[in-house]
Amino acid sequence: MRYSGFNVITQGLFGNKGWKPAWRDAAPKAEYDAVIIGGGGHGLATAYYLAKNHGLTKVAVLEKGYLGSGNIGRNTTIVRANYFMPGNSEFYSHSLKLWESLESELNYNVMHSQRGQVVLFHSDGQRDTAVRRGNAIVNQGDDAELLTVDQLRHEFPYLDYAQTRFPIYGGLMQRRAGTARHDAVAWGYARGADQRGVDLIQNCEVTGIDIENGVVKGVQTTRGPIRAKKVGMLAAGRSGQVAALAGLRLPIESHVLQAFVTEGLKPVIDSVISFGMGHFYISQSDKGGLVFGGDIDMYASYAARGNLPMVEHVMEAGMTLMPMIGRAKVLRSWGGIMDMTPDGSPIIDKTPIDGLFVDAGWNYGGFKATPASGWCMAHLMATGQSHDVARRFRLDRFRTGHVMDEEGTGSQHNLH
Ligand SMILES: Cc1cc2nc3c(=O)[nH]c(=O)nc-3n(C[C@H](O)[C@H](O)[C@H](O)COP(=O)(O)OP(=O)(O)OC[C@H]3O[C@@H](n4cnc5c(N)ncnc54)[C@H](O)[C@@H]3O)c2cc1C
Repeated sequence: MRYSGFNVITQGLFGNKGWKPAWRDAAPKAEYDAVIIGGGGHGLATAYYLAKNHGLTKVAVLEKGYLGSGNIGRNTTIVRANYFMPGNSEFYSHSLKLWESLESELNYNVMHSQRGQVVLFHSDGQRDTAVRRGNAIVNQGDDAELLTVDQLRHEFPYLDYAQTRFPIYGGLMQRRAGTARHDAVAWGYARGADQRGVDLIQNCEVTGIDIENGVVKGVQTTRGPIRAKKVGMLAAGRSGQVAALAGLRLPIESHVLQAFVTEGLKPVIDSVISFGMGHFYISQSDKGGLVFGGDIDMYASYAARGNLPMVEHVMEAGMTLMPMIGRAKVLRSWGGIMDMTPDGSPIIDKTPIDGLFVDAGWNYGGFKATPASGWCMAHLMATGQSHDVARRFRLDRFRTGHVMDEEGTGSQHNLH
């Protein structure tokens, strides 16, 4: 059923009794052309584009919990295309363009809001880097704008411009950046995939990957074995564990990242703001809560809850940047498991096992990548060739040395 203003009004007039479930509750079949492990944003988007762009509809998404129970429903929803490194730059540019038409594409309100994101800088050196990054973004075809302190004061009067430890020198703004409602993105892709015949199978954990003579044959699940010609692993924080089912060791560590939301306040922050002297970013949700986060917890873990020192660290950064935040009450905090690669860039590639593909290593930035990741992974699984904008996301780059060190942290996860 299509969603429209007309439908909302007529359903409202007749007691809202005519709405249909957004997707079927599919039971697993014995065999599929392609099986996707993981019903997060990337898995659902891949299934959607496999059906939509490549006509592959004998596809199942296998999710061990419920759709959207992973990081797709846990992130701070920032969407932007201001990456610097060749490889990342064109990929995130492609993703932002897909975001800009996503709601009409899916006929679903994902609340994509291009409210802008500013990254502040606090020294001459940081200004130089921001200018360089801005030029790279503009050369890529996206927007970037250097804001002076006066312009910042006008747009963000509540930042602490008086403090001497981390004085604000200016900011790099991307006006097309912004936020979206995270779980609606999962629901929109799920509905679109289901409409095209994809089976979305929840409460179905993959417990084994069947391989014969180096060729993938299917998967073992808690709901029985399923044969498949192609298998895509899109398990985000669990990527290492899922790949281990096929005997593969990925260049990935799993770390916890926490996020926080305050009580609802009147509109105060109308863009996304990133602090340049600490890992702190903040926006305000449409319900009024201030949504913010910081660094990963800095030790490998599969526990989706965080440690208290990191809570203190994030609150300190918030207070440093905008002391007014100290008056807001934090309502909730939560954690998600991040699949961290050594260079901070993702992997979308074949594996050494024929028919087995991997899409992982999204670090703390995979929400904004959801449309392009699905687009490129579907392209790879359907054609056997990397999509142009994802061709540098190779699994072997850590062996060959072609790393894309977007974070500038080298091989040390704890410096992310
Ligand atoms: C606190 C926090 C803040 C973040 N903020 C941002 C942000 O502002 N902007 C941004 O771009 N990114 C952000 N991210 C990162 C982003 O959320 C992730 O990179 C992205 O969601 C990962 O892809 P996904 O949606 O497919 O993951 P998930 O939703 O985690 O999907 C993976 C799925 O695989 C399933 N699975 C795992 N193992 C199995 C198995 N054996 N069998 C079946 N299913 C399995 C899981 O249950 C899960 O549902 C943030 C993340 C967190 C935690």
